[in-house]
Amino acid sequence: MRSITTFDLQYAHRFYGFKGEAQYLHGHTGVLTIEVEDEINEGVNMVFPCNEIQKTAWNVLKNFDHSLILREDDPLLPAILDVYEKQGIRNGHPQNQMKGEAFQTELAKAYPDARLVVTKETMTVEGMIKIVYDLLKDKLNIAKITFTSGVNAASAEFETRNRIERCPLCGISLDENGVCPKCGYKK
Ligand SMILES: [Zn+2]
Ligand SMILES: [Zn+2]
Repeated sequence: MRSITTFDLQYAHRFYGFKGEAQYLHGHTGVLTIEVEDEINEGVNMVFPCNEIQKTAWNVLKNFDHSLILREDDPLLPAILDVYEKQGIRNGHPQNQMKGEAFQTELAKAYPDARLVVTKETMTVEGMIKIVYDLLKDKLNIAKITFTSGVNAASAEFETRNRIERCPLCGISLDENGVCPKCGYKK
């Protein structure tokens, strides 16, 4: 069975080199849905608590919220960084607080201090699914990701591969010693 969690992400981007309106900088509220699959955890009668999926995923997804997402070869990137630099906000600002944990993968690098994500490929809905799966595949048993942004939507299914042992009392993942970090249950 699956536990399903949804996230709203507000971001700006453009499709550099694309022949269409999307080559201009514009914004979206994107809706990302993550479906986590496993056997029912008998103790709590659920696959995985959705608020825990929320916490784990939001830690990295925060980087995409209220951020600018540009491809690494987009000439807007140095131009914008130059403006941020001159304004003194390139490396953070006291009012830039809702920051995610910085990450770097093959497909994307996050700069939370500048609210920027630099991607290898154009950040289409398909591109976003690839990036998110890559970031979370080892932490959650992701069976499906759907991303909707404006009139565009895409989804992809994945084979779940992790053996995640869950607490029979509160449902969250046990740590490497078989202990629940939330309620202290020990296997
Ligand atoms: Zn767009
Ligand atoms: Zn527990």
